[in-house]
Amino acid sequence: MKPASETHPVRTAFSASYYAKTPQPSMRKLPLVAQQAADAGFATLVEPQPASRADLERIHRHSYVESILSGNGPLSECAFGFWSEAYRDGVLAINGGNLLAARMALEDGIAANVAQGFHHAAPRNGGGFCTFNGLALVAAMRPDLNVFVLDCDEHGGDGTAQFTKTLPNLFNFSICGSTMGAYEGGRSIVRKVPAGDEPQARCYLDEALSLISEKRPGLVIYQAGMDPHIDDPLSRSKMSADFLARRDALVMETLALELAIPFFFVLAGGYQEPMEQKLVPLHVRTFEIAAKTKHLATT
Ligand SMILES: [Zn+2]
Repeated sequence: MKPASETHPVRTAFSASYYAKTPQPSMRKLPLVAQQAADAGFATLVEPQPASRADLERIHRHSYVESILSGNGPLSECAFGFWSEAYRDGVLAINGGNLLAARMALEDGIAANVAQGFHHAAPRNGGGFCTFNGLALVAAMRPDLNVFVLDCDEHGGDGTAQFTKTLPNLFNFSICGSTMGAYEGGRSIVRKVPAGDEPQARCYLDEALSLISEKRPGLVIYQAGMDPHIDDPLSRSKMSADFLARRDALVMETLALELAIPFFFVLAGGYQEPMEQKLVPLHVRTFEIAAKTKHLATT
């Protein structure tokens, strides 16, 4: 841990409703990460307004939104068999948190949402534990802004890639161990990292950051996934904890200090259990790096 004097807390969207008893840690880990990041002085938590039906229907078909909001309908395609009111309310708050984090990023340069981007959700349906695509939602709600998603989850952002076909201000760059069949072309780039090949992953990061430097988007959303970690049950790329910390520092320092492009980050995936010992510290470290970067950016 860095001394508190070398960090500056990052305004971070979080609500106590970001919790549901999901089979995987995806929504169980969120309050633990938020609490520890705040207690360490890395984050100042800010309560978001839930996303509205009208917001969500900008990007998803009406019948799908209705299925999730009501809990009726083809839940096998949209809520993966574990729909509950808490799950629905959490998903709405998280999507509102993505909109709040975008606003805070534009004001502060760096912001966060203790949540997922829900990058597998596509216009007509959800997928891979993702309901409403909070990355596409930001782009849809801010057509005045070019939004660049740097997705470093273990899994390619196939849903976000679909949305690049219809949202002209959205660009997606996935660096992943499994592509999930993500569409590539137009404004979607997908780079697959071979198992354990950290130098190759670093090359892809450099490629993405060069592209950001060239395009100068108005906002970057960084999916700081921890499921590439070597011990994660879903990892194929098998990255070390040290590499993931260097990845976070490279992305954040380049955006904040070199390019001065506003960004916010989300936790994205990470599934190790017991999560308190193995997973939560990885995500909290991302906050530590963000708070250190913000300190450097403000001094
Ligand atoms: Zn993932």
